[in-house]
Amino acid sequence: MSTSFALLFMRAIALDERPPLRFLQNRDWSGLWQIREHLILRAANAALHRGRSYRDFRVGAAAYVTCRKPDLMRSLGRTPQHIYTGANWKLGPDERNTCAEQEIVAQIRQNQHFFPARRILALTVYGSPQDEPDAESGIRTPTLHPCRHCRRLLREIPEMRPDTVIITASPDGPMELMSFAELLRIHGMA
Ligand SMILES: [Zn+2]
Repeated sequence: MSTSFALLFMRAIALDERPPLRFLQNRDWSGLWQIREHLILRAANAALHRGRSYRDFRVGAAAYVTCRKPDLMRSLGRTPQHIYTGANWKLGPDERNTCAEQEIVAQIRQNQHFFPARRILALTVYGSPQDEPDAESGIRTPTLHPCRHCRRLLREIPEMRPDTVIITASPDGPMELMSFAELLRIHGMA
């Protein structure tokens, strides 16, 4: 666990500069903070352009996904990583809600033939934190966390791992960075 790719990824992605750490020396991690910023940008864009909400509560998400067949992807001239984005839908107070994370899960499933996803390295959620406490755990979070339905959904899909990096960012600045296991623990779902 302590040497897993995702854990190294999380430690590196949390840093703003090239990490001078020994255990990272054989890989080029210098661009990882840029991946983080890129994911936040993509999620923010999805929220802004595709989010639909009767009360103007827009949420976007972006997932950085690796492929089960990286060599196949390279031979096709494609990168063995892919970024999926999603945005929320909520057309009225009594209408069904679709979360940004749900759109991402649907895309990963639909695209399995063209891009056999192996794991989600990082999942970013962009939106304003809720005024009311989390419906399940009852805690108030400084950033917008995936809701209880999404936490359950994400827990069930094999591409989501305990050490998948969760990045939550809000339009007015605050950002949190944690592992998926940590997110579940915070909300009493571990
Ligand atoms: Zn949700």
